[in-house]
Amino acid sequence: MEIKKVCVFCASSDFSDQLYLNSAYRLGEILAGESISVVYGGGSAGLMGRLAEGALSRGGSVYGIIPKFMYDLEWGHNGITDLKIVDTMNERKELMIKDTDAAIALPGGSGTFEELFETITLKRLGVYLSPIIFVNINGFFNPCIELLERAISENFMDERNRLMWKVVSEPHEVVQAIKDSPEWSVEARNFATLKKESL
Ligand code: AMP
Repeated sequence: MEIKKVCVFCASSDFSDQLYLNSAYRLGEILAGESISVVYGGGSAGLMGRLAEGALSRGGSVYGIIPKFMYDLEWGHNGITDLKIVDTMNERKELMIKDTDAAIALPGGSGTFEELFETITLKRLGVYLSPIIFVNINGFFNPCIELLERAISENFMDERNRLMWKVVSEPHEVVQAIKDSPEWSVEARNFATLKKESL
């Protein structure tokens, strides 16, 4: 499987531990080194900015998608390959994952969680089919993964839904995790409605 373009969700905050900011830069470098284009929220601050700068430092292609109100606040990154300005947050999310070969989450706040969980939900419904990777730097996503596990153990989600995502600890593990992710098909949405025995 050729990985051409991935979407990365991550923080807009500049004030997190340097460990997280450095990881975003490193992930950008790694993706560019593998000739993988990056699509992200188009910001210049926080992990988003570091990700873009890491990829650009290695000659990578970086595509940002940002709502107009954020662009007007001068939150956009003007040095990337292309910055697309859209009207709404929803349009942004839809375009960020469109035609991507994986969705990757680095640590972040509510915006990152929302983007990640919407993508998990779309995969569960058979709308998004590509791998989803948690980059669990410093165990940041542990509570989030525990919550998903609880949803599975309490039958709010099917245990086969666990195959929708992979968890890695460091940016250098991301590309292999994408390659190791199981194929997903539209039929998998049946997990939501069919009894296990009938599949
Ligand atoms: P968070 O993980 O909460 O920092 O959210 C990241 C998301 O927040 C981005 O995808 C944007 O939707 C939004 N966001 C918040 N602040 C900014 C900013 N300064 N620049 C760009 N996007 C931002």
